[in-house]
Amino acid sequence: MAPSRVEIDPITGYFNNIDSIRASEYPQLTDLTYLDHSGTTLYAKSLIEAFSKDLTTNLFGNPHSASGSSQLSTQRVDDARLEVLRFLKADPDVFDVVFTANATTAIKIVADAFREQPGGFQYGYHVDSHTSLIGVRELSPRAECLTSHDAVESWLKQGSSEVVQQPQLLAYPGQSNMTGRRYGFRWAEMSNELRSTGQQCYTLFDAAALASTAPIDLSNPQIAPSFTALSFYKIFGFPDLGALIVKKDAGRILTQRRYFGGGTVEAVAVSGKTWHEVRDTSIHAQLEDGTLPFHNIIALQHALRLHRTLYKSMTDISRHCEHLANMLRKQLTEMRHGVGRPVCQMYGMEREAGEDAGPVVSFNLLDRHGEYVSNAEVEKLAIVKKIHLRTGGLCNPGGTVTALGLTPNDLRRNYQAGYRCGGLGDIINGKPPGQSDLKDVETFIAFIREYYCDTSPHSPPCNPTPKPKKHTFTIESLTIFPIKSCAAFPIPSYANWQVGARGLLHDREWCLVHLGTHQALSQKKYPKMALLRPTIDLHQQTLTITHNLNGQSRPQALTIALGDNSNLLSIDSTICTRKPTSVCGEPVSIEHYTAPHITEFFSSALNVPCTLARFPHSGVLRKPQIRGLPDVNTDRAIALANESPILLVSRSSVNRLNEDIKARIASSTIKPGKAVPAEAFRGNIVIAETLVRGQKEHPYAEDDWTTISIFNDASSTGENGDKTQFDVLGPCQRCQMVCIDQTDATRRQEPFSTLAKTRRREGKVWFGAHLALVGGRGGDELDGGGEKGWVKVGDRVECYS
Ligand SMILES: *Cc1c(COP(=O)(O)O)cnc(C)c1O
Repeated sequence: MAPSRVEIDPITGYFNNIDSIRASEYPQLTDLTYLDHSGTTLYAKSLIEAFSKDLTTNLFGNPHSASGSSQLSTQRVDDARLEVLRFLKADPDVFDVVFTANATTAIKIVADAFREQPGGFQYGYHVDSHTSLIGVRELSPRAECLTSHDAVESWLKQGSSEVVQQPQLLAYPGQSNMTGRRYGFRWAEMSNELRSTGQQCYTLFDAAALASTAPIDLSNPQIAPSFTALSFYKIFGFPDLGALIVKKDAGRILTQRRYFGGGTVEAVAVSGKTWHEVRDTSIHAQLEDGTLPFHNIIALQHALRLHRTLYKSMTDISRHCEHLANMLRKQLTEMRHGVGRPVCQMYGMEREAGEDAGPVVSFNLLDRHGEYVSNAEVEKLAIVKKIHLRTGGLCNPGGTVTALGLTPNDLRRNYQAGYRCGGLGDIINGKPPGQSDLKDVETFIAFIREYYCDTSPHSPPCNPTPKPKKHTFTIESLTIFPIKSCAAFPIPSYANWQVGARGLLHDREWCLVHLGTHQALSQKKYPKMALLRPTIDLHQQTLTITHNLNGQSRPQALTIALGDNSNLLSIDSTICTRKPTSVCGEPVSIEHYTAPHITEFFSSALNVPCTLARFPHSGVLRKPQIRGLPDVNTDRAIALANESPILLVSRSSVNRLNEDIKARIASSTIKPGKAVPAEAFRGNIVIAETLVRGQKEHPYAEDDWTTISIFNDASSTGENGDKTQFDVLGPCQRCQMVCIDQTDATRRQEPFSTLAKTRRREGKVWFGAHLALVGGRGGDELDGGGEKGWVKVGDRVECYS
C-alpha cells in the first residue's frame, strides 16, 4: 500500500487525516501520548520498510573503491548529499554537506578548526544556546555570552576595531528548545556583510531544534550562516545522522586543520620524513574522517523522500504544529484553580519585535497556593498514564536560568544538592511535531485538569491537631523481600519471625546488580523481576529462587546455602535510593556472587547481564533516609531497603483506597482501573483492625501514629514473648512501581492513578508507614546485633498517635 498524504485544513493548517496516517505509519503510538518530540521524533513505518527492502535487494560496499558494490555506495552518498542540499534549498555550487554523527559533532568540527587558528579565536554565543554550543567556549581564549540582540550586534562590530585580528565565531540556535523563540538569519546576514568588508567573522547556526518543525531555507547565500549544524533523527526520527552545512566561501578555515585520517588523505608517508597529501577535492572530503556511516546515509535518502510524500513540505508541518501548540498554550494559560490562581506558569511567551516562535510549550505547574509542583512527581503520574513528557532544562541552561530567575549561585547550589538533569530548575517541555494530533492535546489537558487543577473554591480548613488515640489491630500477614525488587516471600503464618534493627530477618538482604554498571536492578526498569520468586528455608538454611520466565514446562530453580560465602566478591555498587537530593545511585559496597551458574541463572531469566549480590555481614552501615522528611534518627540502620527497615500497610487503608478506585471508575470519564490487593504496596507487615460489631475502620490512621507495639504470641517459641516496640518514622512516598502487577509483571494505572488523586500532599503521593525497632541500633551483624524482637501472624498490634 502506498503511503497516504496529509490533507491540510486551509484555515488552521491542521492535518485533517492525521489520525489515519498515525494508524498506518506510527503503530508505536497506539494507546499512548507522546510529547517528547524535542528528544526525538518518531520514524514512519514506510521509511523502515523502504530502507530494509533497499538493503536486502542491493549490495552496498565500503565507499571509495572500484568494485560495483562500492561504487553503488559512493553514488548513493553523492546523491544523498545533493538531496540534503535540495531539502534546504541550498545551491550545490555555494554549499557543501559534511555528514556527521549528530549536530554536536558538526559543531565540534567547527570548534576544533577555529581552535587551531594561530592565536585562537573569539567566540560569542547567544544566551539561549544548547550545551553543545556553550561547550565551545572552553576552546576559545576569549569567549563571551551574549544576552540580547544589541549585545550580539555590538560584539560582531567590535571585531573591526581590534588590533589583534583573530577570527570571530558567532554561535546561536535557530530556535530555543526551551522557549521556542526563533532567531532567524539576521545575525548571519550582519556577519556576512562585515565579512565582505574584510572582517574575519563567521556564524555557526545550530539548527537542530529549528529543523524539526520548520523549513531551513538557504536559498539566499547573502543571509545564510557560514556553518549550519543539524541532526536528521530530530526531523525524520531515523536515521541517527547529522550534518554540517558549510558555505563554501567560509570553508577554508575548516580545512586548515592538522589532523587527517581515513578517507581524507590521498597519500601518506608513514615513517622517515613523514608527509601526507590531503584530498583537496571538496570540503566534505577533507572533513569526513574514516568510513562514512553510509548505511545511514542511504536511509536518509528514504527519509527525505517519504517525508515529502507524507507531509509535502516543512512549511506545512510548521503550520500544523503551530496550530496544536497554540491550542495547548491557550488552554494551559487559561486554566485556573478554583481559588482563581493559574495552574500553569508559562515561559517564553514574550517576544521581541519581528521574532518568530516555534511550537514549543514550556511551563511549570503551580498548586492552588501558587507554589511549584515537583516535575519529578508529575512525571511519575504521566508514566502511569502513558504520557511521554520531557521535563528538564539543563540542556538549555541559559534559557532555564533566565526563565526561572536563577542566579549562578543558585545553580551551583542545586548542583551540589544533587540536582542534575531532573530536579529543581526543571521545566515541562512539550513540542507537538507532525504526527501529533488534537487528541494528544486533549489528553494532556485532561490529565492536567484531572490531577493538577484544584477546582474547590475555598482553601481546605486546617486539620486540628489530632487528639492522642490508640487503635488496636492484628497482624494479617508478614512478608519479606529477600531480593530487592523481586517477588515477595510470605512468611508462613505458623512461623515466629525475628525482627531486628535492620527489619525482618533476611528482608532485602540481596539484590541483583548489572554486570557492566554494577547498579542494582529495579522493578521499575525491569518489571519481570516481580516473577523471580525467592524462598527462605530457615531449617535447611537456604535461599531458593524459582522462575518460569523462559517458557519451560517446569520452573527453573537455584538454591544457595545461606552460610556459603565462598564465591563472594566485594564490589562497589550503587543502589537507587530515589532520594530527593541525589538522582540515583547511593554507593554501597556489596558482595557479588561470581559463580557462573548463578550469574547465568539470573542473566538468562531477565535477559540482562546481571548477578546476585548480598549485603555484607559486617562493616557496612546504611542509614534510613525517608523521603520528604529531614534526617531520621541516625543510629538506625538498613540493609538494601530503599528508605527504612520496615514498611507497614494497613488493611483499612487498602480497603478505603479500593472504594475510592471503584467510585472513580463509576464516576469518571477517564479510563477505569482495577481494585488492587495489599501486595501491590510491598509492605512487610500488613495489619487489620480488630473491630467489634458496628465499629468503623480507621483508614489512614497510620498517618498520625508515632509508635506501635506488637504483642507476640510467645507460646510457640517460649522465648521472650512480650511486646516489641517500633517508632513510626513517617509516611511512605510512592511512585509508579505500585502499578506493576506483582502476579504477572504487567503495568497498570492503578493504584497510583487514584492515589495521586486522593493521597497527595505537597505534591507527593503517600501510602503506608515506615517503621523501625525502638532502640534498635545497627550493629555489625546483619541481624542488627543489639535489640531483637519476634513477630507472628495474628499478633496484637497497638498503635498510638
Ligand atoms: C538536540 C539539540 C542539539 C544536539 O543535537 P545532537 O543530535 O544530540 O548532537 C543541539 N542543539 C539544539 C538546539 C538541540 O535541540
